[in-house]
Amino acid sequence: MKAKIQSEFEKRFGGEGTFYASAGRINLIGEHTDYNGGFVFPGAIDKVIAAEIRPNDTDKVRVYSIDIDDYAEFGLNEADAPEQSWARYIFGVCREILKRGGKVQGFDAVFAGNVPLGAGLSSSAALESCFAFALNDLFNENNIDKFELARIGQSTEHNYCGVNCGIMDQFASVCGKKGHLMRLDCRSMEFEYYPFNPEGYTLVLLDSRVKHELADSPYNKRRASCERVAKRLGLETLRDATMEMLEAVKSDITAEDYFRAKFVIEEKQRVLDVCDALNNGDYETVGKCMYATHNGLSKDYEVSCEELDYLNDIAKECGVTGSRIMGGGFGGCTINLVKNELLDHFINEAKTRFNEKYGHEPKVYEVIISDGARRWEE
Ligand code: ADP
Ligand code: MG
Repeated sequence: MKAKIQSEFEKRFGGEGTFYASAGRINLIGEHTDYNGGFVFPGAIDKVIAAEIRPNDTDKVRVYSIDIDDYAEFGLNEADAPEQSWARYIFGVCREILKRGGKVQGFDAVFAGNVPLGAGLSSSAALESCFAFALNDLFNENNIDKFELARIGQSTEHNYCGVNCGIMDQFASVCGKKGHLMRLDCRSMEFEYYPFNPEGYTLVLLDSRVKHELADSPYNKRRASCERVAKRLGLETLRDATMEMLEAVKSDITAEDYFRAKFVIEEKQRVLDVCDALNNGDYETVGKCMYATHNGLSKDYEVSCEELDYLNDIAKECGVTGSRIMGGGFGGCTINLVKNELLDHFINEAKTRFNEKYGHEPKVYEVIISDGARRWEE
């Protein structure tokens, strides 16, 4: 990938620039917890967006996307937003740095990536983080702290790409560290690294390649349930709720609200349990928690679908250590923690049986927990 970028840069702009990269991400556990003030537990992966960049002493940005085979040129004022959606991620990052009083001048860039698009691994966060990190290094003497770089990516999605996302994806992409997952407290925004070196296991994602668009927003409905129960408990969010508190108001709330809140309360505890297990190198307990999360997402939170439950069942039958829906639900991926000796069998079973039932194979992505945004020196 580096050679390809290098030769394209040389051809278009002449000479060479500096290389930067940032990563896609997974979330091991902690789903639908962010808007409830709970914890998420992501890590950066070995799939990246990489760019070669060089200031060009003008007020114009000139950038070529190898994968899309498209070129964009734009100025740095608010009115200069490019047409192409891929270029708006880069324009947005420039604008968000400038809005915060940072410095951005014109530059030339060529970039490419191997984070699958729209598969739930957050290629958009990798793209934003790569450029945010680079522009901090090239124009701001790295004065913008890493968490703010993640905020810049998040604001880019909100203000220039029409995606109202949380902070997890950009945070994981910027702050990721090889061999570590990060527990992010979505209330205080404090985070802590936990060692993740599952020797003898592989993390593998199965992308069902289905996406069920439901009529009324199930996401907003789940959120409203959580808010209602929190209010009934006199709390700002479900973060401080316990099962005892929930049981005490059970007769005053709907069965649906009860099960939504139950999932959130249990999921918060599962993230903490996984952290303890990782400190002891106990990947079997990690796996059990993943299955429990899947079960909760499917039965209590009701954001699964037939295809994802089927992939989860196959994992269980194959003796996979842990498996669950990753992401909001209603389609997308499962994340699986698999003993290496079972990996080939599991992948074959999943492909064959899923194809027999749904007419296409899931896509398979093996991932290794790796560094986030960085100068790309290797
Ligand atoms: P994801 O879940 O992967 O983040 P999004 O729809 O949020 O999916 O972001 C995908 C968008 O990010 C693409 O449509 C494109 O505009 C941009 N993008 C991601 N990867 C690349 C790439 N390698 N080259 C160019 N643009 C990319
Ligand atoms: Mg995205």
